[in-house]
Amino acid sequence: MRIRLLRDLEIVLEQLHDFSNSVERLEQYRTPGDVAATLLWDAYLRGDLDRPLIVDLGCGTGVLTFGSLLLKGNSAVCLDIDWRALEVARDNLREFRGAYDLVAAEVENLPLRPLGDRCVVVMNPPFGVKNRGADLRFLRRALSVCSTVYSIHKYSPESLKIISELASEMGFTLAVVAETTMTLKQRLRHHRKRVHRFEVFLIRLTKTTS
Ligand code: SAH
Repeated sequence: MRIRLLRDLEIVLEQLHDFSNSVERLEQYRTPGDVAATLLWDAYLRGDLDRPLIVDLGCGTGVLTFGSLLLKGNSAVCLDIDWRALEVARDNLREFRGAYDLVAAEVENLPLRPLGDRCVVVMNPPFGVKNRGADLRFLRRALSVCSTVYSIHKYSPESLKIISELASEMGFTLAVVAETTMTLKQRLRHHRKRVHRFEVFLIRLTKTTS
């Protein structure tokens, strides 16, 4: 299938399978098609998906890996701590068999040495709401492997500040690709509202110093 428009990509991504049983502690929710597509479209237009390896940390259902491979990507690593999530990813990614590896591991144990310009990270990590600091641990790991990183974060002025500081500490420049609203359907019984909306920012980090 050829994707010509951002809207086509949103629709395809929105149709992928969701988590069969979301684990709340792991902050599992599938990235909505519109948000995933906005991030990947930017990476695609900038030529970042031309790199030999795409790395998706906390890949869950594999939405970002799927979109990257569909648009351009040569090969991908899809890492998640939860093997049941990876079964959903494998199902979603079946048309790309041979182009990706599924890795069941804690993000700190990502089995990759620094690859610099030979890879790009596309990720929607846990927001660090249930598991404080998880978002920053993901970012640190991502920035230590690839020279360009795309990521999605829950917006607050403090979180943007903390992430900007981490980026410059690690020699990266941060650009905000988009600020948007994420809409998630609630599936856990104790949630009172049927949908949950909050602001997110989509960022691109690029290495500025060696
Ligand atoms: N990008 C995915 C999932 C986003 S939710 C999608 O769109 O479907 C965050 C994901 O991070 C979940 O799948 C969760 O299982 C994973 N995760 C949480 N903590 C982790 C850790 N310490 N190491 C690796 N993966 C983790």
